[in-house]
Amino acid sequence: MHELSLCRAVADVVTSHAEQRDVTRVTLRVGHLRQVVPETLVFCWKMVTDGTELAGSELVVEHVPAVGECRSCGARSELDKPVLRCAACGGRDVSLVSGEEFLVVSMDLATSA
Ligand SMILES: [Zn+2]
Repeated sequence: MHELSLCRAVADVVTSHAEQRDVTRVTLRVGHLRQVVPETLVFCWKMVTDGTELAGSELVVEHVPAVGECRSCGARSELDKPVLRCAACGGRDVSLVSGEEFLVVSMDLATSA
């Protein structure tokens, strides 16, 4: 499963940055073109972190729409599929503005009592 390996990669990054501190929440920014299902990511996160020092932490997924900018008419349109096509003029000379993100935006650490 695609989401499972992504979660493993994220868990590795978070674990090395947490340096043994308690992580309560991890926020992830995922572009539309990554074609991951946020619910599946959250489910896989529980599986991957279960029994590790990240167990119990919450994964928050921020969805970033895919946006393309047309080189012919300059219009920006949201892209539903990984096909770059301008919604305004139908042109195919479109450059991708966003949609391929996959990064850890932040992680919240428990404040030590
Ligand atoms: Zn256009």
